[in-house]
Amino acid sequence: MSLPDYLEIESRLGAHNYKPLDVVLTRGEGVWVWDTDGNRYMDCLSAYSAVNQGHCHPRIRDALVEQAGRLTLTSRAFRNDQLAPFYEEICALTRSHKVLPMNSGAEAVESAIKTVRKWGYQVKGVEPGRAEIIVCADNFHGRTIAIVGFSTDPTARDGFGPFAPGFTVIPFGDAAALEAAITPNTIAFLVEPIQGEAGVIIPPEGYLRRVRDICTKAGIMLILDEIQTGLGRTGKLLAEEHEGIEADLTLIGKALSGGFYPVSAVLSNSEVLGVLKPGEHGSTFGGNPLACAVARMALKVLVEEGMIDNAARQGAVILDRLRALPSPAIKAVRGRGLMIAIELHPEAGGARRVCEALQGQGLLCKETHTHTIRLAPPLVITDDQVAWALERVEGVFGRLGG
Ligand SMILES: *Cc1c(COP(=O)(O)O)cnc(C)c1O
Repeated sequence: MSLPDYLEIESRLGAHNYKPLDVVLTRGEGVWVWDTDGNRYMDCLSAYSAVNQGHCHPRIRDALVEQAGRLTLTSRAFRNDQLAPFYEEICALTRSHKVLPMNSGAEAVESAIKTVRKWGYQVKGVEPGRAEIIVCADNFHGRTIAIVGFSTDPTARDGFGPFAPGFTVIPFGDAAALEAAITPNTIAFLVEPIQGEAGVIIPPEGYLRRVRDICTKAGIMLILDEIQTGLGRTGKLLAEEHEGIEADLTLIGKALSGGFYPVSAVLSNSEVLGVLKPGEHGSTFGGNPLACAVARMALKVLVEEGMIDNAARQGAVILDRLRALPSPAIKAVRGRGLMIAIELHPEAGGARRVCEALQGQGLLCKETHTHTIRLAPPLVITDDQVAWALERVEGVFGRLGG
């Protein structure tokens, strides 16, 4: 099949809920992917940070293959020998007390919402049916009905109602707004440490520390959605570490499997997950032995192979070089670790055009909204690969002019 065949069949038979770049990938290794014509590209999106460990990491692949030949799914009606070691290793690594294993990121978010609501009624004593959760404008937490119901993005939300009540939206990065929004029925504040899908929006210094303080004083749960920021992406295992705080619930997913398999988890640092009783929540695939074996190895290589420190180091190099770019098209460069964005001026003709030019140079990037290009390569990127990528980015912006 050639490129036009793939495009025609996808267009005819698939739901059109994505508008991908016209490149059909067939193989991946580390930071590289190859298309069906044999062209090589550097992956600068990393599947929205799900392949932090690089494509087809050999140790994760071996763990997957080995486990797939032994036992893949038992359901939670029975126990499996991978779950307990997964719990031990992830709790030790993240200093958590309890874990709830799920599959997709959105499921982890839904699970956290259910759990803090139950906690709100049983422990905090909120009147039945009245619990409120505070969230931020421009959030991205997934695509289920409850979640898109508190999205402020009309594309994500319009036409999908009616939605679940019980959510209050405040501006991101504004601790005073959080303080003002808390009522006796508030049970939790759900927030991304850095808003990824909104365009890598970094809150003011000290925001998370103030938020932590406010939640503690008000007796409400701080839920950090680290599905994108977590697992090394920002140069720390969890982004909360940049401000030295600990959330009550931390949501991780994406790179928890290194891109092999959907695995997510709710981690809790207080006893909040303890409110769930048998039968009240579950998932057929959640905590299955294949997922646990893959996640154990995905975490192990992240730490053992120094990927987190590498993200901090390479991210700093890239940010410095991008900030020095003389292009008049660039409005702002921002980032932390290898979660980086270049925002263009509205007159610059849009980020899609730049992504297409970068594709021509062998870099696969994806625009977010209209004017922002995200740079988020796998955390295994080397000095030489960073230099290679920067030369090409500089070339594209050089030719772009004003
Ligand atoms: C990707 C993402 C999700 C949703 O994860 P899915 O696996 O796509 O359901 C939730 N929150 C954040 C911050 C994300 O980046």
